[in-house]
Amino acid sequence: MTGKTDLKNCTIEELEKFLESLGEKKFRAKQIFQWIHKGVCAIDEMTNLSKGLREKLHEKSYINNLKIEDVLISKIDGTRKYLFTLEDGNIIESVLMKYAHGNTVCVSSQVGCKMGCKFCASTIDGVIRNLSASEILDQVLCIQKDSKERVSNVVIMGSGEPFDNYDELLKFLGLIHHTEGLNISFRNITISTCGLIPQMMDFADEKLPVTLAISLHAPNDELRSSMMPINNRYPIKELLDTCKLYVEKTKRRITFEYALISEVNDTEEYAKELVKRIKGMLCHVNLIPLNKVEERDYKTAQMERIRKFQEVLKKNGIEATIRRELGSDINAACGQLRRRHLKKKNND
Ligand code: SAH
Repeated sequence: MTGKTDLKNCTIEELEKFLESLGEKKFRAKQIFQWIHKGVCAIDEMTNLSKGLREKLHEKSYINNLKIEDVLISKIDGTRKYLFTLEDGNIIESVLMKYAHGNTVCVSSQVGCKMGCKFCASTIDGVIRNLSASEILDQVLCIQKDSKERVSNVVIMGSGEPFDNYDELLKFLGLIHHTEGLNISFRNITISTCGLIPQMMDFADEKLPVTLAISLHAPNDELRSSMMPINNRYPIKELLDTCKLYVEKTKRRITFEYALISEVNDTEEYAKELVKRIKGMLCHVNLIPLNKVEERDYKTAQMERIRKFQEVLKKNGIEATIRRELGSDINAACGQLRRRHLKKKNND
């Protein structure tokens, strides 16, 4: 769709400029924005626009729509895993989770990922491209429309490194938060990063009350570097110093994610080492039982060890919760659905 404007990727201000360039009135921008964010997929469904305007829109613009390729629904807890096809044929995945505090959608920010974490399926074939703000937003719009569930929370924890797609991420946050759109509160949004320090610093200056989650997974450089190549570039001390700065600037509590991997990072000693590193910080640790990835040797830590790890943190005054597993009957770790789909397609 080169040369045509993707209406879904526009802020109201951008739509105003676009309409003016078509010789149209500015107030139409709000109407178009409202239609798009209600989940309308075609220009002709915008029934309060004149036929003439719709024709002009067809000529110069389009609406970038994801297509639902597959949905897996958990019989246990209603979790829904979606596979979407993008306009260029690439595949991404997203998840709808039902929590007591509201329905949460986990979105992808890139097709694939280049960060190379050893335990993650999304990164196995590297990154193909960034998603546009519109493609990130449409994951939420499509899921809300398909499931008929109102989405109140968004976590940017699907495939991809959101801070490696910084500008589109920020644009997405503005779109999804807009009062004429889904109006999702920043407090109900979590961004997860493997720790890209320059972008974390920039993001701190935005002072948005979103929750920042850092994928830590290890308390020292040797172990973290063996699991996450990004640690060679941004080692733990610098990362934690940046987290402290972030907390100072935003006054927001930071979340540390720690996926427990059997006999890799799940010992009491590591828990104690972690305590030493983060004690006194405004933070919370989210302990995640590792989601087994077919292609990797890593195994999930035993629940007993996870509980023990949590106990050590709590005894030392660090808040720690164990992430509840949802959709265990449709279990597929981050990026695995897409990989299975691509493999199947190649074998057909
Ligand atoms: N790139 C970002 C966001 C996507 S990954 C980041 O690194 O934070 C979202 C979270 O899932 C991260 O904490 C990541 O480390 C974790 N994760 C990846 N693979 C996992 C697996 N197999 N089991 C459990 N958590 C995993």
